[in-house]
Amino acid sequence: MKYAIIIPDGAADLPLEELDGATPLAAAETPNIDWIAANGRCGTVRTVPRGMHPGSDVAILSVIGYDPKQYYTGRAPLEAAARDLKIGPDELVFRCNLVTIVDGIMEDYSAGHIASEQAASLIEELNRLLAGPNVRFYSGVGYRHLMTFKGECDVTTTPPHDILGQRVQGRLPTGSGADMLRTLIDRSQAIFAEHEINAVRRDLGENPATSIWLWGQGKMPQLPSFAERFGLSAAAITAVDLVRGLAKLIGWSLIEVEGATGYIDTNYFGKGLAAVEAMDEYDLVCVHVEAPDEAGHNADPDAKVKAISQIDRHVVGPLLERLKGEGDQWRILVLPDHPTPCRVRTHTAEPVPFAIAGAGIESVVAEPFNEETAAASDLHVARGCDLMEYFLTVR
Ligand SMILES: [Zn+2]
Repeated sequence: MKYAIIIPDGAADLPLEELDGATPLAAAETPNIDWIAANGRCGTVRTVPRGMHPGSDVAILSVIGYDPKQYYTGRAPLEAAARDLKIGPDELVFRCNLVTIVDGIMEDYSAGHIASEQAASLIEELNRLLAGPNVRFYSGVGYRHLMTFKGECDVTTTPPHDILGQRVQGRLPTGSGADMLRTLIDRSQAIFAEHEINAVRRDLGENPATSIWLWGQGKMPQLPSFAERFGLSAAAITAVDLVRGLAKLIGWSLIEVEGATGYIDTNYFGKGLAAVEAMDEYDLVCVHVEAPDEAGHNADPDAKVKAISQIDRHVVGPLLERLKGEGDQWRILVLPDHPTPCRVRTHTAEPVPFAIAGAGIESVVAEPFNEETAAASDLHVARGCDLMEYFLTVR
């Protein structure tokens, strides 16, 4: 059997006036996804367990068959896994943003989208002046870096993009071990204030990196391998580090595609082509496309419709063709990880629609794929991680 999973990130939405009352999924041109729905089954699935935050990390854990309640430890460890950092079991990994704080206000969570090279010099400076046996900084891409911390630490932190324009006082780490973290943040501010890179950025009218901001912490999760659990070889195609990290942690291969940007201008065609080729080698191929989520954050229904149409045409279509060449020994599953409604501009935790077709999956009502038809079906998966088992084993 061959299996394909396509995740149009954040594609689920609400009816929009701009689309004459349709959702982007309903408005998009999706003959292939509609074929899957009409010849297979639609339903809804709760990918974000109640009480958990609706991040792609949590939701995609569910999609790949792992219960976030049992396995999710935080966002930063997944980024560490994506970058193959060696993290000890006694170490806590934090996301370490470079941010711009002016007069105690969080002005910019990205320090003007600082370039990786400049950021690397600042992180290097932190390693020279602040690191020790219990603290270490790892430079990453743009404003996104990591810090590891060894010691007693049970803190609550706040994502910097959630407090834009607000006072940082009261949003700094709290709890046991928070003093040490606050000291590191304070000391980074003193170090960065003097740094020549910031002098240059100010001259150019760019936001300086005035501080680090620590959040998204967790220990490395211990996930049983996918092959061990389901007896299948698998590969993922994604442009996003969180998904790369999850894939590595469960032993999936990663296939990198040139021009896969994680943005609306991504190389849909290249991703589809790579997925079709990977079907020769692997039992299961999972393609994740970030573009619809970005369009949702930007409150841009037209871009979202376009992104979904491109995914249908360049990713779902070719995969479906390839699978049909396997006779009846295949199954395909399409689902967003979570909704990113254009009107809300961020993720929500509502159940998402899914469509599934292939061997042994009988059509009940031949309807196109959208939020409404999925909700009207009688197939509702309450625990997202159970959907994988259904997809792989139902007869
Ligand atoms: Zn998002």
